[in-house]
Amino acid sequence: MTALARPLRLTDAPLADGFGRALRSLRVSVTDACQFRCLYCMPSEEMSFLPARELLSVDEIERLVRIFVDLGVRNVRLTGGEPLVRRELPEIVRRLAALRGGGLDDLSITTNGFLLERKLAALVAAGLRRLNVSLDSLVREEFARITRRDALAQVLAGLRAAEAYPRLRPIKVNAVALRGTSEVAIRSFAEMARQRGYVIRFIEFMPLDGGDAWSADAVLTGAELKAALEAAVPREWLPLVPVAMADPAQTSRVYRFADGIGEIGFINPVSEPFCDACDRLRLTAEGTLRTCLFSQGETDLRGPMRSGASDDELVELVREAAWNKELKHHIGDPGFQAPPRNMSQIGG
Ligand code: SAM
Repeated sequence: MTALARPLRLTDAPLADGFGRALRSLRVSVTDACQFRCLYCMPSEEMSFLPARELLSVDEIERLVRIFVDLGVRNVRLTGGEPLVRRELPEIVRRLAALRGGGLDDLSITTNGFLLERKLAALVAAGLRRLNVSLDSLVREEFARITRRDALAQVLAGLRAAEAYPRLRPIKVNAVALRGTSEVAIRSFAEMARQRGYVIRFIEFMPLDGGDAWSADAVLTGAELKAALEAAVPREWLPLVPVAMADPAQTSRVYRFADGIGEIGFINPVSEPFCDACDRLRLTAEGTLRTCLFSQGETDLRGPMRSGASDDELVELVREAAWNKELKHHIGDPGFQAPPRNMSQIGG
């Protein structure tokens, strides 16, 4: 038998779950606060947000993300709530961008775009290279109805600001597919994709609103929306040509118009679940680890960290939680239970 040069350390094997899925992606929520009140993301009543002391500090975020990267996580997306409301966001980006040398491949932010025009320069200077902007309607009144804020102009200005940075391209725009809204607006989104070069992706509405906005009937499926797209655009733009997936864990089915101009994608977690390829973990703003959007339980990392846990002790907690990652989300199965948190509290 060959003698080992040194005993294996807890961090030596990449993070995996009990179903053999390697866990490579981490969403990190930097705050649960948001200026918008999107009807699919939070209940309509007044929201209260976490006090600052309950949020992970910049040092704590850096420490935990470093541990995850040591364990094989390669993609980190900063989210919220709305990440740009956190004043320290450029510093968080700066610290995490430095992990690129240590194994991190991709660092991105998902934002509602409201503060982008004001804050983008600092984020790019801090090392940001990838951006997703959420935008569900291009009509002012409709945008205000969905987000409960009259702020379309600011979001569009934010997108324009992002266009000034070639390194951020392609800019991705995410829209939640909403019945009665998205199929009507699909032509304007197609035009936006073609004229501005944004990759626009529609995601099916999941039961994460924390209230009663979701029902199976409210889900406009990716297949329905693709059919609506094909019916709404000029014949010369068709057929839609599938764009090959770069990564098997990629969740969107992306299509390019026949003339090669413009891309639209569909993320179909409800009608075509992709749990078998899910490689994601989520860290909430207060430092609990969630292994599925629909987890009923979670693992506190902030408490142990603030009580002096060593990196190896944190690794053990992470590994055990990851090992128990849920097989699938169970939306639509009998007995399905929505999670105890809504999307803005989880970190989308
Ligand atoms: N505020 C940021 C933003 O708007 O991108 C980051 C957080 S937000 C929760 C992240 C993404 O989750 C957004 O694209 C949002 O549209 C999506 N989202 C929220 N609730 C959803 C739901 N019930 N179903 C599907 N997507 C949802």
